[in-house]
Amino acid sequence: MSIEKSQLLFEQAKKHIPGGVNSPVRAFKAVGGNPLFIQLAKGAYLYDADGNAYVDMINSWGPMILGHARQEVIEAVREALPHSFSFGAPSEKEVQMAELICQMVPSIEKVRMVNSGTEATMSAIRLARGYTGKNKIFKFEGCYHGHGDSFLIAAGSGVVTMGSPDSAGVTQGVANATLTAPYNDLAAVQSLLDANRGHVAAIILEPVVGNMGCVLPEEGFLKGIRALCDQEKVVLIFDEVMTGFRLAKGGAQERFGITPDMTTLGKIIGGGMPVGAYGGKKEIMDFVSPLGPVYQAGTLSGNPIAMTAGLCMLRYLNAHPETYTYLEKISSYIVSGIKDSLQALGLPFTVNQIGSMYSLFFTDQKVKDFATAKTSDIHKFARYFQSMLHQGIYLAPSQFESLFISTAITEEIADKIIEANQQSLNQLV
Ligand SMILES: *Cc1c(COP(=O)(O)O)cnc(C)c1O
Repeated sequence: MSIEKSQLLFEQAKKHIPGGVNSPVRAFKAVGGNPLFIQLAKGAYLYDADGNAYVDMINSWGPMILGHARQEVIEAVREALPHSFSFGAPSEKEVQMAELICQMVPSIEKVRMVNSGTEATMSAIRLARGYTGKNKIFKFEGCYHGHGDSFLIAAGSGVVTMGSPDSAGVTQGVANATLTAPYNDLAAVQSLLDANRGHVAAIILEPVVGNMGCVLPEEGFLKGIRALCDQEKVVLIFDEVMTGFRLAKGGAQERFGITPDMTTLGKIIGGGMPVGAYGGKKEIMDFVSPLGPVYQAGTLSGNPIAMTAGLCMLRYLNAHPETYTYLEKISSYIVSGIKDSLQALGLPFTVNQIGSMYSLFFTDQKVKDFATAKTSDIHKFARYFQSMLHQGIYLAPSQFESLFISTAITEEIADKIIEANQQSLNQLV
């Protein structure tokens, strides 16, 4: 397998792009080696610049839930292209998009389109602050909410300490307004809220975490958070950028039966185009400009081509609930194959799965928060990753990411994935 062209492109890229990539997660820093440059993708497969094929287990970090280059989406976009790429004025597709989102995610009564998940979460907390008149926000260790300053806060050493910035360039002032607690630790949330009574505008969380690897909420956790938010008059924001339209038509909130006050969306919502959205209760959303005092805007927001791709994707998912049944079935098939291999080899590793999201953690501990996720042996993960890649399976290049299964994964491809897993795990014994 030659990867010569990718190597050359990477050398060239590094001259004019910091680190050679436009998003750091694409670099292979955590697993060694250089990133592959992708030329095209179709269905379940990615093809690199040297023409090698890989089964795609990330699907652009979520969006390509129906596999790559779906014919329906291509047709819809092709039809829209001659009508110009941007109007900077309202158009019908934005109305249809908003209606469909509100229908699929019933907790959303009004919604505003933006251009990325980062924009959605940044706007959502500004709105929560404007609505409540309070300053602090609460996030969980290991949850990722895009690269807005307020979210780049390291896990505090103790639950009542203030956050400290995780990135250079984030001021201590911003960090001080972000409180953090371990995921699944309701008692920590309670005591932090007690210590900051009257100052917390919002709790934001991934209702199922994908960004420390796949981590599920424990029984009662989401319900407990909902109750605390009601009691303390704190806006509950579910960041469903990853889980929205993936774990169910209505996201994790539908699956777990918990209703947040606000929801942030991204990834699948654009069908591969740069789209995000935030929405929720009418009463809160009416605080957004031009109706209300919270300013938020976007030159390309609601872009007609992006709306076309996203709308086509969401309409398909809305009309085909069997998509989720299939994803559940094929993902469970893959995961049970992996578990069988682990058992046969006597390896004590942990697999977390829900719907079409899963992670194999190289630890024997139950993974329920960032601390337990970090007990994983990342050197073992790196070897596993490289072995999978050599067998033509493209995983997320980090232990702390969830994988995403698409409907393009057939049973035959699933068997290939299971077989490659067994080979790769074999080398670790
Ligand atoms: C990917 C992600 C974001 C950020 O979205 P971008 O489009 O990359 O800005 C925010 N929240 C969650 C949960 C995500 O997975």
